[in-house]
Amino acid sequence: MKLLQHFLPDSQKLRLEHWHFKDSEPHLWAVFTSTQTRAECPACRQSSQRVHSRYQRTLEDLSMAQCRLTLQVKVRKFFCLNPTCLRRIFTERLPAVAAPWARKTLRLVLQLQQFGLALGGAAGSTLVKQLGYVVSGSSL
Ligand SMILES: [Zn+2]
Repeated sequence: MKLLQHFLPDSQKLRLEHWHFKDSEPHLWAVFTSTQTRAECPACRQSSQRVHSRYQRTLEDLSMAQCRLTLQVKVRKFFCLNPTCLRRIFTERLPAVAAPWARKTLRLVLQLQQFGLALGGAAGSTLVKQLGYVVSGSSL
């Protein structure tokens, strides 16, 4: 389990809780928790420690040794403590891991972009399917 911690996109802000492996695909699911104790409101930049709720993000990550890797990251929503801010609740950001609302990690997106730029949409899509990713030509 310690080995998997070294492959995290951001080992400073994520802690591995557990993982499970599906032999039939093969597919590794790794569950992480954010270790941030506070987060900055994206609208007013004020820091907050007051937690509103928690939820789980599912992010597709780079494959490891021809095994799909999915990160399930437990993140929190915080109350914005600035009374003049229009944003009452916000989700903590993990800028080294994934963009807000993204379903793929930044490093996977970067790799897919490189395939798309080198090969174009249709050829790039064919190659990444062979590598185990599902991306349309128009997305690339
Ligand atoms: Zn705010």
